[in-house]
Amino acid sequence: MIEQLQRLPGIGPKSAQRIALHIIKRSDEEVEALAQALVDAKKQVGACRICFNLSAEPTCEICRNPQREDKTLCVVSESRDLIAIEKTREYRGKYHVLGGVISPMDGIGPEQLTIHQLIQRVSQQDVQEVIIAISPSVEGETTTLYLGQLLKPFTRVTRIAFGLPMGGDLEYADEVTLARALEGRQEL
Ligand code: ZN
Repeated sequence: MIEQLQRLPGIGPKSAQRIALHIIKRSDEEVEALAQALVDAKKQVGACRICFNLSAEPTCEICRNPQREDKTLCVVSESRDLIAIEKTREYRGKYHVLGGVISPMDGIGPEQLTIHQLIQRVSQQDVQEVIIAISPSVEGETTTLYLGQLLKPFTRVTRIAFGLPMGGDLEYADEVTLARALEGRQEL
């Protein structure tokens, strides 16, 4: 169990041990409920066929919502960043989730991400602006610039401004910082 837990993001050997000991002390029912929740979530949740956000339905809630405008797309690397932006309540457009960032060191090139599908969406729909909202790491910058080059022939491309330190993670930003970053987006 400790070995398995240690594979989770943000869980080191000490935390894994602490969680394992905690689980051992829980009742059988509680542990079964936890195990079942993991299995159920894994079975039911997949990628939205349009934006690749996590969704229990073939098309996610945001893509199905007629109140959200189709003309603006916000590109994020993972669903957790989408959740962070949703919390600001500042954004009324739709999303595209890349599934990561370009990272040659980890063997992740454009083909491993949903970039092809993004270009298809932007070229086939009336998209007037693509806002790129990717954490400003080295890989994030590479991905942002790469997407800018690909998308500019089709539409206006902007990126969010960062009131965040370089290397900071989008998902850990507070709502106000993220809302300001969206407001202060710049032409790429
Ligand atoms: Zn969707």
